[in-house]
Amino acid sequence: MKPIPMIDLKREYQYMKEGIDAAIAACLNHQRWIRGPEVAELEERMARYLGVEHCVGVASGTDALVVALRAIAMRTKGKEYFDPADEIITTPFTFVATGEAVLRAGATPVFVDIDPRTGNIDPRAIRAYLDENPSRAVGIIPVHLYGQACDMEAIMTLARERGLFVLEDCAQALGGEWSGKKLAGLGDAGALSFFPSKNLGCYGDGGMIAADDGEVAEVARALSQHGGKDKYRAELVGYNSRLDTLQAAVLLAKLSYLEEMLERRRKIAALYDQGLQDIEGITLLSHTEGGLPTYNQYTILVEEGRRNELAEHLWERGIATAIYYPVPLHRMEAFRGRAKVHGELAHSERACAQVLSLPVDPLLEPGEVERITTAVREWASGKSQ
Ligand SMILES: *Cc1c(COP(=O)(O)O)cnc(C)c1O
Repeated sequence: MKPIPMIDLKREYQYMKEGIDAAIAACLNHQRWIRGPEVAELEERMARYLGVEHCVGVASGTDALVVALRAIAMRTKGKEYFDPADEIITTPFTFVATGEAVLRAGATPVFVDIDPRTGNIDPRAIRAYLDENPSRAVGIIPVHLYGQACDMEAIMTLARERGLFVLEDCAQALGGEWSGKKLAGLGDAGALSFFPSKNLGCYGDGGMIAADDGEVAEVARALSQHGGKDKYRAELVGYNSRLDTLQAAVLLAKLSYLEEMLERRRKIAALYDQGLQDIEGITLLSHTEGGLPTYNQYTILVEEGRRNELAEHLWERGIATAIYYPVPLHRMEAFRGRAKVHGELAHSERACAQVLSLPVDPLLEPGEVERITTAVREWASGKSQ
């Protein structure tokens, strides 16, 4: 039987080949590899798509987080970096880049627990931390994990009440919405990733910062090109973190398909929701009311201790799975002594032990999805033994 990988980029390329080939050929002809015309065009189209004033292309989603944080530090403190006394509240149940960016911007990450129903940061945990530790927090980084919106109403209300900035980690959530508004445009800034497996992936690394505030965007742009308006007059300690022309060209070609691909992801997720209902040992994550998810991943919770067995069962039937994420950030060596932890973080730890992501390649055929749900049901009913 044909194997089903997590994502089949070759199939995607065949689907979009004409536009991508033409976009790359245009670059080969103009040879403007650094900040070529495609970069500005993509920034403009993305700003329009997201409904924000400014977009700044950078070299990766991780850099988008670091550069956005440092631009916010300039805007709010007039300083290039945060201080370790500045606390930024985020979730430990995320990709390492979220917490790493906080440290690289000079601040201290504070990990608070998730809502076990959604996997996203729990606004009640943020409030509890703030009540116990008034005045040290400067910002919040909600991560829209798997492409599912965090409760942005609760988070923005808290942020306004306490004078905190909000940087949305939208690496998995491009195209998602909260209350009819695109994610990345709700907080003070949003960070996007164009890593190949994200909702809009390029052919290497790439990222983008979205912001309404002109000063944040301007500082971010300067930081991304060695800290100055031009690279021979540096005013800040910057980076060489530009989005490549070639990547922007590929992204422009693929952007035309983004909404179609998100719709396909949602249809596949609906098939999973239906096909995986009421299975013993399996719990489905719930949707955040008010959010329109993008399903960068479709993730289920498997009864503790049985996850490997299910993954193996599927693997033997040619079906790939992945674990996002096996280790919470507060358990990683890199954060030891550098991050603060609020409470036990028991929900985050349990999620790390239970999550299993199933293939949600937008070009999966309904028959392939059915093969996967059937295989999961077969496992649950013990037919595999
Ligand atoms: C992928 C990802 C990032 C980092 O993006 P890169 O482009 O790989 O640097 C940050 N946060 C989350 C939640 C991600 O999934």
